[in-house]
Amino acid sequence: MSLWGAHGFPGAVMWLGAHIGISGGIENSPGTARSIGADVMQIFSKNQRQWRVPEIPPETAQAFRSAVQQHSIQVVAIHAAYLINLGSSEDPLQGKSRAGLVDELRRAEVLGAPYVILHPGAHKGAGIDQGLSTIAEGARFALDATEGSPVRLLLENAAGAGSTMGQSFEELARLYQLIDRPDRIGCCVDTCHAFVSGMDFRTEAGYESFIGRIESTIGLSTVRCFHLNDAQFELGSHRDRHANIGAGHIGKEGFRWLMNDPRMAHAAGILETPISEDPDHPYAAYETDLETLRSLVRPPGGGAPRARPDSTHRR
Ligand SMILES: [Zn+2]
Ligand SMILES: [Zn+2]
Repeated sequence: MSLWGAHGFPGAVMWLGAHIGISGGIENSPGTARSIGADVMQIFSKNQRQWRVPEIPPETAQAFRSAVQQHSIQVVAIHAAYLINLGSSEDPLQGKSRAGLVDELRRAEVLGAPYVILHPGAHKGAGIDQGLSTIAEGARFALDATEGSPVRLLLENAAGAGSTMGQSFEELARLYQLIDRPDRIGCCVDTCHAFVSGMDFRTEAGYESFIGRIESTIGLSTVRCFHLNDAQFELGSHRDRHANIGAGHIGKEGFRWLMNDPRMAHAAGILETPISEDPDHPYAAYETDLETLRSLVRPPGGGAPRARPDSTHRR
């Protein structure tokens, strides 16, 4: 199976996985993902607190790609470094952010990862209109610099703290239009960020209006990933603190609609929930969260939630 063709797979339920650390070697992260039952994964491709790092050696990239295949990881997403702020028009931040994004897109291509997920940025007082056009210019710069690359840049919705942009799907849609590269961009919807931005999708009616809002702004097929996070703070609080599934204000039941929506089954669902304090089993909480999400999936034709499908969880 081609890595580039891995997205857009047909299935009734989205593939689920988690953000995996790379401190044990980037080439070992797919095995770690598989060991906790993840079918998709997200990583930082480097120490995300540094601007410049050495290139990924070809043998490391090859080992990573082999491990992705060996462990049947369906989608790899790279989360861009938080240092990047395309919304700032001030130098040197603007220049560094552009170069940093080009670097992220190149590293994703080397690793065979189809997606780079980016927080659009903060305008820091310049205003939303100016901020959005600055972000769009920066994104176009990076996409032009990597022309022909199969890597897609996914804009993530923000929690709406400070002057961060992209908290509403309307703002993401404006960015999508301003960037004007539909073949190279898409969106990642973070459930915690959407919830603390005021979108209540915990009931069936609320969920339908949430999906309707996505459909009428960015479009359903534009959403390639979900970050599946419960929220420690309340609806509309704009406070971004992720909670384990069922341990926050969204609650376990709040994820049931999304887990059973065939309209969203093409997207990859990635946990960014708090990891465990036990250093020997840091991802035990992810395993619990994946079990919780899978327990919400109803079998086709109704009835009790189905057990997790063994065929996709070779160990
Ligand atoms: Zn996120
Ligand atoms: Zn967050």
